Amino acid sequence: MVWGSILGWKARSRGASTLLILLKPDATEPVCAEVVQALRALGLSVEEVPLPGRRAWHVVDGPSVPRESLLRIPGIDRVVPLEDVAAPLVHGTLADGPRTISVGNARFGGGHVSVIAGPCTVEGREDMLDTAKLVAAAGAAVLRGGVFKVRTSPHSYQGGGVDALGLLAEAAQETGLPFFTELNDPRQVALVGDTLDGVQIGARHMQNFPLLQEVAQLGKPVLLKRHMAAEVDEWLLAAEYLLDAGNDRVILCERGLKSTGRHVRYMLDLGVIPYLKRRIGLPIVVDPSHAAGHHELVPDLARAAVAAGADGLIVEVHPRPQTTRCDALQALPPDAFATLMADVRQLAAMGGRTVSCSVRAVRAATSSPSAGSSDLNRSVGA
Ligand code: PEP
Ligand code: MN
Repeated sequence: MVWGSILGWKARSRGASTLLILLKPDATEPVCAEVVQALRALGLSVEEVPLPGRRAWHVVDGPSVPRESLLRIPGIDRVVPLEDVAAPLVHGTLADGPRTISVGNARFGGGHVSVIAGPCTVEGREDMLDTAKLVAAAGAAVLRGGVFKVRTSPHSYQGGGVDALGLLAEAAQETGLPFFTELNDPRQVALVGDTLDGVQIGARHMQNFPLLQEVAQLGKPVLLKRHMAAEVDEWLLAAEYLLDAGNDRVILCERGLKSTGRHVRYMLDLGVIPYLKRRIGLPIVVDPSHAAGHHELVPDLARAAVAAGADGLIVEVHPRPQTTRCDALQALPPDAFATLMADVRQLAAMGGRTVSCSVRAVRAATSSPSAGSSDLNRSVGA
């Protein structure tokens, strides 16, 4: 409710400077009334915001009065410009409890866990179809595949572009899975945005604000990866751009930070999951593949992420990892992915959560005579 009220102010005071006025914790009712009177006497509009632990918190619109003068009013503790409060729209998402974001049959957050899986890069029709079938059969709920790749070296394979996107869409159609791909240039939004079920924003483009604003216009779910050197507030402020542009279907994705040592590709910040769960309502998924950099380490990191409360995973999987041109070392082979999915279902169930899978998997589970005893059936709650 606190943030809801602040957001109301933000909407009403667009362009104007808005201040939050925090009263002293021991301010009595008469003091609160005197503060309001003093502020109104200065020509400011005042609205009370209920705040646990404080007698009152007022939001005042009006840059005309110096902050020092406001601080001289007895009872006022702090005066904070609204723009200094990091990501108010993102923080407002917890007002009604954790949110659930749906992509096709997949649900992220609010007690639902979904796994996005597929190749790092869409490289060929047969590989893409085989991958889609195997991840769908194992219980993934969303298909992934890169077609506009962001590579550290200009000499590395840059992705198959629009043609490859056609293969990804075909494999998605074939398996009944919705699909995500990364967009990294605002021009790609008009070019292919309509064909996607969701957009991935890669780590390196987390702060590409024109891209975020353009992608937000699609109104589709956005998987916003955390940059490998981003502080949490910077990540949330990137999400704020999406919400501010009118799209609140944002799924945050932790994928590891630059750190010391080469034992892993990036240092996975698992602590950020319980931290953010207490502060915002948006779902958080984890990418163990880019964090680990090695397929042998991926399942343990993935299990740890689900145990820590992640609302989903995004995992690179390939039927023939040795043949891929991009991130071959971290791609999970089919059997390892199937084992991981079974573990994810168990871990989610321990926390009273359900794991989404494809519409077809739900149908198969509910029509099969042995469905009542299958993990899949329990996990989808069918
Ligand atoms: C990817 O998902 O293939 C990728 C490049 O991820 P990131 O942006 O996290 O490096
Ligand atoms: Mn990759």
